[in-house]
Amino acid sequence: MTRAAPDFATPCFRRIKENSRGVWVGARIHRTCMCTVNGTDDSEPHAWRDSCDRYPHLAADCNGAPCSVEKVWTSRGDEITEDYYLYLIDDRDHAVKYRPDSPEANARKPVDFNTLPPPRF
Ligand SMILES: [Zn+2]
Repeated sequence: MTRAAPDFATPCFRRIKENSRGVWVGARIHRTCMCTVNGTDDSEPHAWRDSCDRYPHLAADCNGAPCSVEKVWTSRGDEITEDYYLYLIDDRDHAVKYRPDSPEANARKPVDFNTLPPPRF
């Protein structure tokens, strides 16, 4: 059963494509607070809570890089769990380090199945 998304952006984890023929990448919309009430005296970033004394703007990350909230909210994609989001980000990091020519390391390029090497098991 899928839950209908509200008409306005809310904090969430999503998988989206940066290219319509590319791979899924992890994206999130978050509200990160820098207050000293729930943070530390050094104002460390933390997830916003009801007890915070500020109400920061929504922010978004796409494939680990900051992007606009509209890009994440309006793109076709699915809402995913935080664990799956972290998996997609770690998979991207692993691909960049060990498989730099793979589609996961180049999410903005379309996947070309004619040049893609066979999977290694
Ligand atoms: Zn706070």
